[in-house]
Amino acid sequence: MNNPPIEPIATYIALGSNLASPVSQIKSARSAIAATEGIIELAFSSLYHSLPMGPQDQPDYINAVMACSITLAPLALLHCLQAIERNHGRVRKNERWGARTLDLDILLYNNQVIDLPELTVPHSGLCERSFVLYPLHEIAPDLIIPGKGAVADLLAHCPLAGLQRLD
Ligand code: ATP
Ligand code: CA
Ligand code: CA
Ligand code: CA
Repeated sequence: MNNPPIEPIATYIALGSNLASPVSQIKSARSAIAATEGIIELAFSSLYHSLPMGPQDQPDYINAVMACSITLAPLALLHCLQAIERNHGRVRKNERWGARTLDLDILLYNNQVIDLPELTVPHSGLCERSFVLYPLHEIAPDLIIPGKGAVADLLAHCPLAGLQRLD
């Protein structure tokens, strides 16, 4: 049986890349996300240049955040984003936070708190990562993160750590 239709939900997706022309990867991923049935783009941040987390012997990253209106359930959204990662040459390795052509993380799914084996929302790194908080604040300055507080307050306590806005 088909799932019942769901009301449009606001979601925020983090995009990151540090291999194979990262700026092109992010732009292509944006198009692929917006072209997905059940996803409508609402806003897209500037591109940001950031330093790698974890292993330092890898290129710098390009990051951005996208706001969307969606009619997909949380796991359906995750699986769509993982398919887009694979279509962009993402190869999963054992190394944590290693280099990748494309990383798509669900930051927020409306105001829901989700704790499943394959999906944690709000995203676990959201509150400490400058390359997520600054682009998120750029497109949603009044946002409240469920259980964490206002994005503006989180940002005020988050050092830039080398983050640079492009354009
Ligand atoms: P981090 O999650 O710390 O940013 P990462 O993005 O490098 O690290 P991945 O290897 O891309 O981690 O993903 C590991 C797993 O994280 C995925 O298989 C997925 O099931 C899970 N996951 C949990 N919560 C989320 C989320 N909010 N968005 C995307 N993936 C998630
Ligand atoms: Ca669409
Ligand atoms: Ca990530
Ligand atoms: Ca990820």
